[in-house]
Amino acid sequence: MASILIIEDDVRIRESVARALADHGHDVHSERLGMDGVAAAVAGQVDLVVLDLGLPDIDGARALQMIRGVSQVPVIIATARDEQEAVVELLDLGADDYVVKPFTAAHLEARIRAVLRRASDDDTGSRLNVGGLDIDVEAHEATLDGERLELTAKEFDLLAYLAARPGKMVSKRELLAEVWRQPYGGADKTVDVHLSWLRRKLGETAAEPRYLHTRRGVGVKLVAPET
Ligand code: CA
Repeated sequence: MASILIIEDDVRIRESVARALADHGHDVHSERLGMDGVAAAVAGQVDLVVLDLGLPDIDGARALQMIRGVSQVPVIIATARDEQEAVVELLDLGADDYVVKPFTAAHLEARIRAVLRRASDDDTGSRLNVGGLDIDVEAHEATLDGERLELTAKEFDLLAYLAARPGKMVSKRELLAEVWRQPYGGADKTVDVHLSWLRRKLGETAAEPRYLHTRRGVGVKLVAPET
């Protein structure tokens, strides 16, 4: 199924998780030390990393930073209950998800499947088309009626996220979680500001929307404009 790297110093956890994931058909490799884990994670051939926060040589946040410095491999953090504060910081640093110890193998397996599904959605290389909007997700390019749109990275992500769900009202909370990776919510204003920039680049106004339709207190949807 997937090639999974476990970075965990507790031998009992490491072995039981490795066995359970192998039983699910995964190809499992494990490391006890953070530095060895980082080296294995960035060496390639790894589809997903399960990273323990409390490691003997370097802390999990540092390990994650080192991995993220060179690789976008999905990372799930394994955290103890009293480390939950750190989780927010780690998600900001680019962790994809987390599990709280003690977790069951079935729970971890479900998280792994969800993260891998999301990762493969992200790189399907798909083209999205809504009305006169063409979005090449892989090339990170968007055109409107054949004209190239000059978008910032976040504007592009926001547009691509909405264009993948045409006609669906998407909440700001969902956008913060999925586009800004802030699952605990954040400033709604961030979304509003980016929407208004995006709207300007699409050549429309809130008063006379064409593609971007917002509903106060509900969210926003992208639709093909009526011609
Ligand atoms: Ca540990």
